[in-house]
Amino acid sequence: MSLDSSPAPFSAPYAPDDVAIAEKLLAASKLSEAQEARIDRVARRLIEAIRANDDPLGGVEDMLREFALSTKEGLALMVLAEALLRVPDARTADQFIEDRLAQGDFVHHETKSTAFLVNASAWALGMSARVIQPGETPQGTIGRLTKRLGAPAVRAATRQAMRLMGSHFVLGETIEAALERARPRQAHPPRYSFDMLGEGARTADDAQRYFDAYARAIEAIGRAAGESSPLPDRPGISVKLSALHPRFEAVSHPRVMSELVPLLVDLARRAKAFDLNFTVDAEEADRLELSLDVIAAAFADASLAGWDGFGLAIQAYQKRASDVIDYVDGLARKLDRRMMLRLVKGAYWDTEIKRAQERGLDGYPVFTRKAMTDLNYVACAQKLLALRPRIFPQFATHNALTVATVLELASDSGGYEFQRLHGMGEALYAQLSEDRSELAYRTYAPVGSHRDLLAYLVRRLLENGANSSFVAQAADNTVAIDTLLRRPADIIGAANRACHPDIPLPADLYAPLRKNSRGIEFGERAALGKLVADIAAERAPANGTIVAATPAQAEAAVAAARAGFRSWSGTTASHRAETLERAATLLEQRKAHFIALLQSEGGKTLDDSVSEVREAIDFCRYYAAQGRKLFGDGEEMPGPTGESNLLRLRGRGAFVAISPWNFPLAIFLGQVTAALMAGNTVVAKPAEQTPLIAAEAVALLHEAGVPTSALHLVQGDGKIGAALVAHPAIAGVVFTGSTGVARAINRTLAAKDGPIVPLIAETGGINAMIVDATALPEQVADDVTTSAFRSAGQRCSALRLLFVQDDVADRMIEMIAGAARELKLGDPADPTTHVGPVIDAEAKAKLEAHIAFMKKVARTHFAGQAPAGNFVAPHIFELSDAGELTEEVFGPILHVVRYRAEALDAVLAAIERSGYGLTLGIHSRIEDTVDDVVARLQVGNIYVNRNMIGAVVGVQPFGGFGLSGTGPKAGGPHYLPCFATEQTVTVNTAAAGGNAALLAGGE
Ligand SMILES: Cc1cc2nc3c(=O)[nH]c(=O)nc-3n(C[C@H](O)[C@H](O)[C@H](O)COP(=O)(O)OP(=O)(O)OC[C@H]3O[C@@H](n4cnc5c(N)ncnc54)[C@H](O)[C@@H]3O)c2cc1C
Repeated sequence: MSLDSSPAPFSAPYAPDDVAIAEKLLAASKLSEAQEARIDRVARRLIEAIRANDDPLGGVEDMLREFALSTKEGLALMVLAEALLRVPDARTADQFIEDRLAQGDFVHHETKSTAFLVNASAWALGMSARVIQPGETPQGTIGRLTKRLGAPAVRAATRQAMRLMGSHFVLGETIEAALERARPRQAHPPRYSFDMLGEGARTADDAQRYFDAYARAIEAIGRAAGESSPLPDRPGISVKLSALHPRFEAVSHPRVMSELVPLLVDLARRAKAFDLNFTVDAEEADRLELSLDVIAAAFADASLAGWDGFGLAIQAYQKRASDVIDYVDGLARKLDRRMMLRLVKGAYWDTEIKRAQERGLDGYPVFTRKAMTDLNYVACAQKLLALRPRIFPQFATHNALTVATVLELASDSGGYEFQRLHGMGEALYAQLSEDRSELAYRTYAPVGSHRDLLAYLVRRLLENGANSSFVAQAADNTVAIDTLLRRPADIIGAANRACHPDIPLPADLYAPLRKNSRGIEFGERAALGKLVADIAAERAPANGTIVAATPAQAEAAVAAARAGFRSWSGTTASHRAETLERAATLLEQRKAHFIALLQSEGGKTLDDSVSEVREAIDFCRYYAAQGRKLFGDGEEMPGPTGESNLLRLRGRGAFVAISPWNFPLAIFLGQVTAALMAGNTVVAKPAEQTPLIAAEAVALLHEAGVPTSALHLVQGDGKIGAALVAHPAIAGVVFTGSTGVARAINRTLAAKDGPIVPLIAETGGINAMIVDATALPEQVADDVTTSAFRSAGQRCSALRLLFVQDDVADRMIEMIAGAARELKLGDPADPTTHVGPVIDAEAKAKLEAHIAFMKKVARTHFAGQAPAGNFVAPHIFELSDAGELTEEVFGPILHVVRYRAEALDAVLAAIERSGYGLTLGIHSRIEDTVDDVVARLQVGNIYVNRNMIGAVVGVQPFGGFGLSGTGPKAGGPHYLPCFATEQTVTVNTAAAGGNAALLAGGE
């Protein structure tokens, strides 16, 4: 195989303007009256068939009819389904069931449908709910249940109901069982595409297992298919690239290409041997370019020539769908081969919207109105139909209007097929087959254990249960058929209505108060390439001009800051806010420059550097917005007539800001801008490891308009910091660093005569995460590796101590260790690097000493290999007791402790005993557990079912309790007032001889 012959990579704007696309789509959507009438007729007939269906086995439509997802019961059922079957221990299962059932009113839920499936689950849940009354405490309920011997019965019944639901959507637990169920029993049997369920690989072992499962399945499907008929009338298999590689992500491009392409070619060859349809599923938008690179390289392999079965899925909700079709057609044309293209609308819409918002992208890669997706689907269908026979279109939809429109556009019945998911769209396709027996359709048939199925099932139900979904509306008899027949073009109306009015662009997420900082999608090759080139152009060797200040210079800086105070504190809040906003704009313009600095001086990876620059920008804008509100005109206080009372905040004086090296730009600027916004002047002392970044940040603030008399930079080590703190004339200290230094600062301040000045300290933590048996292992593996190892563990929020429920600990730890093994350590300037160096040789030596000690006293689950330099590889150690970790270890070292389900209380006590309270992670689907932990623990930032780092300014204000700091939280609404002092001004407005305002009031 030669990769050199690979075609030019796919390229199209990632998130183009919706309005421009809508203009084109609307113009192209016109059909004749006769065509529209035929579409109406066919669609209406199909909808009537769906509504008339009362299949005794039920289906998703029945499920949705019974437990609409907008009800508490529906949601409780979904969450129950998603997690229950992976819970191995009875205690957690019971707790979980109790928790879920308390969410809804199952007792009074009377089934409307005769469907067996729905009845079964309603019965099981109804019965369970009668035993466990909503609102009872878990302890009380479990106690009573045990007495009545009800728990096992409840558990068994609920599990049974879930299994039943599972079996409706999975064709078989093994490929053999699925093939048996799919065995042709009629003259024109439906075609199948089998899918091996799973959550995507996180480890090399996972990827191997999926590969083996695909290979085995292809063999079994091929043998079962025999020689009967040629493609397209052959069964097929659908594969997910994310299942075949543990780091299927844009930044790992070189590795993915060299490791995954040969695997895909291997599987494709096997499929070719049986002349099967081999479809690569479509995944998230940020993986589209990578997927197409992999597909193009594999498809180009000469050994696949002469086979028409290779294909892929294309998502019409993506704005790039039409470009993808052109690209794939180009591939097929160039190689003079045929391809099978499945057109879907897309299954990850909510994920796409969230990701784009989180990453601060310029736009969304997907449409924000469903009608735009539908409109685009039809346009793409038209394009695909025109590309026959080189392209064999496969229209995957359960929407009767979409089906009817495609039928009309196809005009004849050859050279394409429809597709549906097993367990869905049965009535629609049954009617279609009856009316048009010459039409072909294929069923996408998930195969796998119920444990893997349920995550899939829930995604499908959530998607199809959404109010906007056709399946949900068709299931709702109160929705008129005419409503379902409304054309997407009519719903959109005009191009300027292409965007959803309630979904703001990522930039406007915090409007009108402030702009969100701009981010970048690494999955967009052009954007990533430009950023990397811009950074490379900025990279200059660190010059040696930074000189530590002498004590005399530090003294002079404080004096100068004191001198500058009157003028700066006399500026208006809006002047100061505008200055900070200018600083934000300059930072955004010079992003590449600061990223280069963060990488060269701070050893930060690309991802970390981008996040840090964004955080710094957000701090500037957030404090500007808060400051405008708080330091503006002041607050009028109520009081007697004849006088005015105004309360206002004003600066304290010269503030000392001492910041750490781990966020040399964001924390540095966060402290300084908060103090400045509050009207203080500032003497800033950055960490001695990162002086250049601080110098540039100060220069930028000066350029933005902060007078040099208001902001002074003092470089140096801890001794200079101590001298500043000890200075009698300072008005306050803001500090981020170790608990020990914070204590020393506190003592110094306390020992001084003169005014008592405030100390705002944010220190470290022995941050814990609790993972119970209801958690999804893949999600835990992602979140633990991110929380413990990203930034080489050098974040104060980083995970240090992982508590895992005994019953699932082996599997969880194995997956986490496997995921850690896939992290790439290396040069932080290389975009493929996941973990960069630690800050210096001293830090490395300390961490290595800890590792050596742990190797003696703890069980080693993972010990990574570090390259030469200041690198420390991720390590995972299991402790027998949490108390064995007595101090914060500031590096990529994770400590794991197992706990028994009934001993959660002891876990919480251990966390409390540490005295720290900065961040905490909880992975549990049991809301009661989450609520209990949140209520009990004094921890500043708690993250549930996600990673526990990367607090966003103004979204997750950051700072802890106890040994972790004094509060208030940085990036939160209570921060600025702590830099200020309060003043009231009372004016006797009647002093001039009378109360004119009162007299003017009249009768
Ligand atoms: C055989 C088969 C294979 C599939 N393979 C894949 C695959 O590889 N990859 C994949 O991602 N999906 C895949 N799907 C899932 C598929 O995307 C969904 O089933 C499909 O979107 C449902 O479309 P519909 O026409 O049946 O429903 P409809 O209800 O008409 O459409 C639902 C679609 O509208 C979108 N939508 C909802 N609200 C909005 C909004 N506000 N703005 C924009 N769009 C919105 C949804 O995301 C969804 O895509 C497959 C489906 C089938 C049937």
